[in-house]
Amino acid sequence: MNLKHNILIQLNAMKTLLLNCPAVIHDPPHVLEEIIYGHPMPPKHFRLDVDHDGIAWITFDSPKSSVNVWNEETLREFNHLLEAIEHDTRVRSLVLKSAKERIFIAGADIKAIRSMQHLRVNDLIWLGQAVFDRLARLAIPKVAAIHGACMGGGFEVTLACDWRIASDSDSTKIGLPETQLGILPAWGGSTRLSRLVGVRKALDLITTGKLLNASAAKRAGLVSHVVPAERLDALACRLVRQKRPGLRFRFENLFSAVIGHMAKRKVLEKTRGLYPSITKAVEVVTHAVHGEIEQGLLLERNAVAELIQSRDSARLIDLFFKREEANKRPATGGTALPIHDATVIGAGVMGAGIAHILASRGIRVLMTDVTNDSLARGLERVHGLVSDATRRRLVTKVQGRDTLDRISTTHVPVPMNRHHLIIEAATESMELKKKIFADLAARVSADTILATNTSALSVSDLAKTVPNPERVVGLHFFNPVHRMPLVEIITLPETSPDVLATVVSFVQKIGKTPVIVKDSPGFLVNRILVPYLMEAVRLYESGIPLKDIDDAMLEFGMPMGPMRLLDEIGLDVAAHVAKTLASAFPDRFPQTDALDKMVNAGHLGKKTGQGFYRYENGKEIVPATHSDLPRHESIQTNLALLISQEAMRCLKEGIARSADDIDLAMVLGTGYPPFRGGPITFARDTGIIDY
Ligand code: NAD
Repeated sequence: MNLKHNILIQLNAMKTLLLNCPAVIHDPPHVLEEIIYGHPMPPKHFRLDVDHDGIAWITFDSPKSSVNVWNEETLREFNHLLEAIEHDTRVRSLVLKSAKERIFIAGADIKAIRSMQHLRVNDLIWLGQAVFDRLARLAIPKVAAIHGACMGGGFEVTLACDWRIASDSDSTKIGLPETQLGILPAWGGSTRLSRLVGVRKALDLITTGKLLNASAAKRAGLVSHVVPAERLDALACRLVRQKRPGLRFRFENLFSAVIGHMAKRKVLEKTRGLYPSITKAVEVVTHAVHGEIEQGLLLERNAVAELIQSRDSARLIDLFFKREEANKRPATGGTALPIHDATVIGAGVMGAGIAHILASRGIRVLMTDVTNDSLARGLERVHGLVSDATRRRLVTKVQGRDTLDRISTTHVPVPMNRHHLIIEAATESMELKKKIFADLAARVSADTILATNTSALSVSDLAKTVPNPERVVGLHFFNPVHRMPLVEIITLPETSPDVLATVVSFVQKIGKTPVIVKDSPGFLVNRILVPYLMEAVRLYESGIPLKDIDDAMLEFGMPMGPMRLLDEIGLDVAAHVAKTLASAFPDRFPQTDALDKMVNAGHLGKKTGQGFYRYENGKEIVPATHSDLPRHESIQTNLALLISQEAMRCLKEGIARSADDIDLAMVLGTGYPPFRGGPITFARDTGIIDY
């Protein structure tokens, strides 16, 4: 009776809040009454065990699934467990854990949310808030023992506990990535996180949506202890006997309005207002840090109810699923062999980057080059990448050392028949690559996969130099390798299904997203990008200021304007790729000597301190010009149209396997604005070309 009474008081308080707030979207849902008075069913997703010390162990373990997620069913079950615990006089404390190998709780069930009516989503938000609030109000010590991915709603439930402890496993990743889906944390995350770690850190985590490993999470104050997974239970037992920790007074939270104002300015500068979820998150977090929790929860509900209805959010969620699918989908028709060792030929920018990423994912790498000096420079690059990652706490010192230990080098020919995969990343020259391939074919075993990282050369021509071309593919990594998530897998008609299955699974294993494309000049991403870049050069030659061209595309949502991007790529490299495409498609890719002239003058872009821009200490000097906003619009329409047109041509020619793959590749390979969904979605949604 007491319990019902308490909950009714809470419910009424929520209703009162709602009725007093004109911004509320719809009437209070009935789910709460249903939960309270509904008949408890035996839980399918949880186990509840109360031990002799009075610790209630709630283990989240959804059947027939490798993940745990929050949806109506799991929230209701969890609520019933909390109700049972409230009634059980034996219970003196609570530990929440997961039985999954790599997942604590992956967050909300986005798939279910995607197919729900908006009002139903609002009900679900309400339900999650009410259930997690019930957990927060339980007057017993509560520990969340986190092992594996703990994201979004998975982390929000832990914020309702007194302690969060985490395993030091690689799979433990903690954060609130909702803004990346065009929404914001609305199950208490936007309200409770700033009270725990302060407004500044909360804003950083929520607006970037980044996921932290256990040690970074501890440093940020998200968890209090990090221990090996097998010691989590013992630590939880120890903590529940201690006094419940209160929230520390956060001096900075007194200045949340100022911090929020500054954060909003920074965010608007960076996103140009194109991501409303991020700006909204700043508002909610900075307001919700004061006053009663309920007020914060109300702000969260109202904000998310508005955001979830936007097309941008729907596109971001779609893109999330496209990427998830590409990251998991095996290539059909073949058997994937595991790759434990690989050789990387060439220790330059790309070779060193590839060697680093492979070794960091547990693959033993032999890196080769023609001289000891080149190898030393390559190793220095890898060291730089590792120490940067260690400094930023993305990896531990031990993980960094293990990465380095997995790389060996040689500049003289060595037996290679032990390695199942060779990735050639030597200087871009067909003659040189053909020589390397012919030499490899003579030295490796018949089933070794030979991959090239060429940006623009024909993979079929290279395959002709080896006796069995069915094991030749392109693995086109993007620069910088450790940041760029995309790998284009270039296949030939003769590529064997087993080889394709193996490289797809290999790319997924190293944490990259594979997109399968046909061997064709420029493959997919460069083919779509080049007409856009060349048109930007033409506009510049016609007298349009650099800044107008770049600003126009920044306002479209590109992470960098086309002229800056050309400087970044290097004008020599860009000219080479442009020529390859111009000779393949002379009708659409006109030859231009604009880049050649600059290259001949030694202006290669950022690397020489002069390209379209001049660079001082690595920073571009932007010429002072009057910005013409109406002109931006026509530049944008012109350039965006070119991207979408070429993307459609690639789709029609079957360069990629689907429109989804093209959209995904452009977002991941070039930073095409994700909220626009990709160039094909953009064409379809805006009607700029016939779809
Ligand atoms: P780079 O000039 O930095 O490095 C090339 C390395 O290959 C040099 O260290 C060179 O000594 C070495 N090399 C030359 N001949 C060799 C041989 N016979 N055996 C072993 N090593 C040899 O070039 P990079 O930027 O790393 O590009 C490498 C490849 O990756 C090229 O095919 C390029 O088109 C492609 N690529 C480059 C980028 C980029 O942005 N740099 C992006 C994607 C793909």
